[in-house]
Amino acid sequence: MKSEGKIYVQVCKLCGETKPLVKSHIIPEAFWREVRNNNEIPLLISSGQNQIPKKAPIGVYDNTILCAACEVSFGKLDDYGIKVLLRKSDELFQPIRNEDGSVVYIAKEIDQQILLKFFVSVIWRASISVQPFYKRINIESSHKEIAKKLLRSDDEMDLQPFGVVLSRWQSEDKNINLSKNLMAPFQENLQGVNTYRVYFGKFTAHIKVDDRDFPYPLNECALGSNSLVVVAARNFSESREFEVMRDTVRKSNLNVKTLRRHFSVR
Ligand SMILES: [Zn+2]
Repeated sequence: MKSEGKIYVQVCKLCGETKPLVKSHIIPEAFWREVRNNNEIPLLISSGQNQIPKKAPIGVYDNTILCAACEVSFGKLDDYGIKVLLRKSDELFQPIRNEDGSVVYIAKEIDQQILLKFFVSVIWRASISVQPFYKRINIESSHKEIAKKLLRSDDEMDLQPFGVVLSRWQSEDKNINLSKNLMAPFQENLQGVNTYRVYFGKFTAHIKVDDRDFPYPLNECALGSNSLVVVAARNFSESREFEVMRDTVRKSNLNVKTLRRHFSVR
């Protein structure tokens, strides 16, 4: 790649200082590596419909965003996202099958504040990236400023306008390998709120960037809404139907209450 190795001395988009900028992966490299290791074909990425896929041997990175110090400051968030969504996901998430065959995954030992902050960091980095892969992520400058403040502070802060609902592929789905390809994130309107769909291996994050809250029933399964993390499973073949996930969550409400009692959590 032509741009590889080129060092930009520019204003770091996080700290605002003029410094040499380094490679940022945005979606952490571990997720790209996962895709590469599980497929024998070379990693190809497409930035959207009707785009010719390009080879991306180490994933998509951007060297126009962060200085070294700021890139390092995202390490803790990236590590946590990788741990929960990739390395330890099978241990953390227990599948629960509903009577109608739909499946939800439940996890209780997750620091939802850190996980939320990880998603905010990804959507912020994606929104200022110049890479075509992230071209469909455009967030308002006032929201970018809030994200920056959040990411530069260790204090617990109000996360509005950000919120996240997770869904995931069903592990027994025969098409699971297909689902492991990293598709480019895109904007979508979910029940009237502005969200971005970002793929993290088996998991899909529906990241809200909107001053309004998620409407019911999404608000009940959004990160931080209760002590359990609830993730609806979707069949790959039905993945375009967001309704499937919404209904799954709706149907699982009873189960979640039972599980709360079972785990003795509120
Ligand atoms: Zn910086």
